[in-house]
Amino acid sequence: MVNDYGVIKEIKDYADINNVPIMTSEGISYITNYIVKHQVTEILEIGTAIGYSAIMMALSSSDVHITSIERDEKRYLEALKNIKKLELEDRIELIYNDAFDVNLDGTFDLILIDAAKAQNIKFFEKFERNLKQTGVIITDNLNFHGLVDKDEESIKSKNLRALVRKVKDYITFLKNNKDYETEFLDIGDGLSVSKLKKSLE
Ligand code: SAH
Ligand code: MG
Repeated sequence: MVNDYGVIKEIKDYADINNVPIMTSEGISYITNYIVKHQVTEILEIGTAIGYSAIMMALSSSDVHITSIERDEKRYLEALKNIKKLELEDRIELIYNDAFDVNLDGTFDLILIDAAKAQNIKFFEKFERNLKQTGVIITDNLNFHGLVDKDEESIKSKNLRALVRKVKDYITFLKNNKDYETEFLDIGDGLSVSKLKKSLE
């Protein structure tokens, strides 16, 4: 739709100008294709920012319902505004809170982790109880803007180095997690796709 397209362009421009780290087109395309292919309906997102990825996921299928959590007030308010503009408020429910203070009863087909990169293991461990047996946990930014593959010494900032180490720890955590089969995809800024292994009963 021409109208939707215009609003999405505005959202992307806003992200650009205000340095909001929204997913790349490539990354979000992979996810929307996944949604359609696997008939995903219930989605949980950690890290709404201004609603870009939630909106793209909602637009991929009219059966999709999203719960998305954001702790930054300014971004949350911007996301609310964007969701209203596209009349998606019936299908995208926003929670303004720190994800670690949110306890959900529902279960989801897809959980998208795209929040504070140092906390990925904790997000995974907190929200895996909300994953359906057939569900998937997708995490964004596993390349961390190309820094994960870089020589650590070449990263000058100590904080950044610590963050990159955390992303590497998360990758190790996923590789060692016997309950899940994880694929690592060099799409966008790097995605992991973790599915529960079938029990051998
Ligand atoms: N998924 C969005 C981008 C999210 S950017 C998109 O692609 O359009 C990451 C967001 O996670 C930031 O806005 C940040 O405020 C939020 N965030 C980080 N840690 C969080 C936490 N513990 N709880 C809730 N939101 C968090
Ligand atoms: Mg991201």
